[in-house]
Amino acid sequence: IRVLGIETSCDETAASVVALEAGKKPVILSSTVFSQIEEHAAFGGVVPEIAARAHVEALDGIVEAALEDSGLSLADIDAVAATAGPGLVGGLIVGLMTAKAIAASSGKPLIAINHLEGHALTARLTDGLEFPYLLLLVSGGHTQIVLVRGVGDYQRWATTIDDALGEAFDKTAKMLALPYPGGPNVEKAAQSGDATRFVFPRPMKGSAQPDFSFSGLKTSVRQAATSVAPLSDQDVADICASFQTAVTDTLGDRVKRALARFRAEYSHVATPALVVAGGVAANKQIRACLEALCAENGFSFIAPPMWLCTDNAAMIAWAGIERLRAGLAEPDAFDFVPRSRWPLDSVSAPVVGSGR
Ligand code: ATP
Ligand code: MG
Ligand code: FE
Repeated sequence: IRVLGIETSCDETAASVVALEAGKKPVILSSTVFSQIEEHAAFGGVVPEIAARAHVEALDGIVEAALEDSGLSLADIDAVAATAGPGLVGGLIVGLMTAKAIAASSGKPLIAINHLEGHALTARLTDGLEFPYLLLLVSGGHTQIVLVRGVGDYQRWATTIDDALGEAFDKTAKMLALPYPGGPNVEKAAQSGDATRFVFPRPMKGSAQPDFSFSGLKTSVRQAATSVAPLSDQDVADICASFQTAVTDTLGDRVKRALARFRAEYSHVATPALVVAGGVAANKQIRACLEALCAENGFSFIAPPMWLCTDNAAMIAWAGIERLRAGLAEPDAFDFVPRSRWPLDSVSAPVVGSGR
């Protein structure tokens, strides 16, 4: 099975070809990602209109490049898979419409993919992981713990009740006048900071409710920043270190709770695993905390390479292959309308369209 994947849900324009031959490991034949970070940097965040326009301008060339790199032509492709949600609707329209046009003109099936399903299944592409397992998704738009039971079979165990974790990093950076994207810059500043100087809250830590919350932390960061203004480099470093430690602490508490629940409900699983995805998974302090937690609780810690943790189209092509292989076919994805909101729990209904 060879699938062309297209991803345009946020600020990456991406295309990829992934192949699976019976009895063999899947192969990523090509993966082209154009990041729009520079276009949005001046605004300190992703601007939807700019993103949509940039997708329009870049996508055709990106798809061509992905096909060329793969050494295949459209005729060799079995299906076209595109992200149909959740995300910024302008970008989703560009990607899904382009995919529909390619599929219709070449007579291939079209598969509408939930972006989160792409993240959820990546560990099977990279590590051949067996179901069930736990996924921690920490990106600019999502903070979730998901039980991955099978293709199209997901259960969200925790989500954020306000900001996403990446968003909290980005907002903290903005308040401290650090450049966008905030995450890597906060992490860098934190290296020379004193994490004990500011005591920030650990939202939801110890709560019986499994969810995350980060907006209160943001308020505390703002208060700390105004209380010591004008900010010296050391002040900025200390705030970043204190923030990162608070975030790691509360994230660790939430994950620990989920590991315990998995243990209780899936005691028959001999080798339980936690998979991380999303840009925040690059953070070394957070990663170290998760690794230690997994080791303590007998879970294997699976972190796909960073370029497959952040937004890419290989994961979308792969999700398409998983759906085709599982025989999850539905009459007509050509009618599928992009969904800005599309919870992963509700994707069980498979969406595959026949070519015409
Ligand atoms: P989506 O949420 O739709 O999947 P996204 O583009 O917002 O997409 P990613 O591209 O996966 O998400 O990740 C970007 C986020 O990760 C940004 O919020 C960024 O600040 C954060 N990030 C990246 N590197 C680090 C780091 N080293 N430490 C903390 N956060 C980081
Ligand atoms: Mg991104
Ligand atoms: Fe993503």
